Amino acid sequence: MENILTEGLEALSIPAERETVETLAAYGRLLAATNRVMNLTAITDPADMARLHFLDSAALLTVADFSGKRVADVGSGAGFPGIPLRVLQPDMHLTVMDSVGKKMDFVDASCRRLGIENVNCIWGRAEELPQLREKFDIVVSRAVAELDVLAELCLPLVGRGGLFIAMKGPDCQAEAAQADYAIRTLGGQLREIRPYTIPGTDISHTALVVEKTAPTPIRYPRRYAQIKKNPLRET
Ligand code: SAM
Repeated sequence: MENILTEGLEALSIPAERETVETLAAYGRLLAATNRVMNLTAITDPADMARLHFLDSAALLTVADFSGKRVADVGSGAGFPGIPLRVLQPDMHLTVMDSVGKKMDFVDASCRRLGIENVNCIWGRAEELPQLREKFDIVVSRAVAELDVLAELCLPLVGRGGLFIAMKGPDCQAEAAQADYAIRTLGGQLREIRPYTIPGTDISHTALVVEKTAPTPIRYPRRYAQIKKNPLRET
């Protein structure tokens, strides 16, 4: 796993000491070991894990400047993309959140074991955390919900001038167009759809970058059942 990570990070022009790469690989090994007793990820092959979890997550460092930022990862699961970002950018302050407690227990225990500091793990639903409203410079999320739903979970957490970055597959234009109304209603503006290729693969993904340009109206986020049943769409 170390070689794939080293080569992939080089291809992305992300500097990483050997120790940093070892920490990422150790996190991957903990994930694989824990996954034998607890379902955390469908990706278990070490090479796939290196590329599809770690390098995919790391690619976000080429999209925005995370240095010194307060970052939240919504629906982080076993820690992606948040943990690789934090390991590669040690001066950022990371909050990971997930509605499933055992996933946050895994991330918390793994960070303690590997000495990954400045990581706050929250077991909770993103739309039920009013104390974190507008508290982050950047909110990231991968594989959690359609963009219009996701925007209502994430944008209320972003402070004015901050970014919401959603990781999506290659064909996200229609999803982005459908979410435009939700994004604008929640105080955001879609700034960029940035394609990238995961090093060592021919897999293309995209990062949708939304800037928070105005406060989110206080009536959002709604309860999840309502968000899901009635996503913000222009009628
Ligand atoms: N982001 C991780 C990744 O890419 O490997 C996990 C993706 S997993 C498919 C989606 C995760 O989002 C699950 O762990 C789920 O519990 C979490 N989730 C879904 N809705 C959520 C919400 N409203 N607030 C917090 N977590 C949520």
